[in-house]
Amino acid sequence: MNTIAGAQRERGKRHPAVARSLATADLVRITAQHVSSEGRCEECGALVTAAKPLCPRAAAALRELARRDGTADTSSRTIRFSVATLLRSASAHRPTPEGRCFRCGFVYTAKCQDCPQLRIIRRELEARGMIPLTAPEPGVGTCAGKSASWELTGQNLASWQRAIDSCHECPILTQCRTTLRNRIAGGEPPQDQIVAGAAFDYYGNHVPADRLRTYAVLRSRTPRGPANHVAAGGDAA
Ligand code: SF4
Ligand SMILES: [Zn+2]
Ligand SMILES: [Zn+2]
Repeated sequence: MNTIAGAQRERGKRHPAVARSLATADLVRITAQHVSSEGRCEECGALVTAAKPLCPRAAAALRELARRDGTADTSSRTIRFSVATLLRSASAHRPTPEGRCFRCGFVYTAKCQDCPQLRIIRRELEARGMIPLTAPEPGVGTCAGKSASWELTGQNLASWQRAIDSCHECPILTQCRTTLRNRIAGGEPPQDQIVAGAAFDYYGNHVPADRLRTYAVLRSRTPRGPANHVAAGGDAA
């Protein structure tokens, strides 16, 4: 057996497993560092071709990002880059005439015109209020794939207000309100979340819109303390 080739094959097998064990921010960092240029990865030196434009590490990281796409793990709490870095990175993820992402090599399809990394970056910029929220598709909630922007933790008053306003424009608001009523009736209200245009504190108490500002101030002073009860008690939906 050719031991060098065998070792290379073993190394190749390990990349997906390693990618699965990494935090999303680390995966994004790998795809940012392992850039292919003139037939090689600038970071690790692996050979790349037009058919395989990414080195094995970058390819494994990208596959893992695609698998996690839309999950809580890709929320704003896991991505801590400056807005300038995110915008610079977003501009590099653009289509080539060959139908691939210029930056990461993702092959677009008729249904998928954004690479996974660009979707993560866009959600992060949306959550920070740097770009407008993506227009919802018919029959799909505006919050789909952006759940972090509808959570109270990790966001500020402006972000909460943006999420509430988006709920009011959501194509499935009526359905969402019905589901919310059922959840409340069943004793399982949302916690630390905005649902159907209504905010709920850590304990599932509705925070009325006119007390949201006060609640944000109290909460910032006393995270997870009794102050969180101050704004509770309104009727949702
Ligand atoms: S109305 Fe419901 S589904 Fe629509 S954005 Fe708000 S929480 Fe999401
Ligand atoms: Zn590389
Ligand atoms: Zn890309």
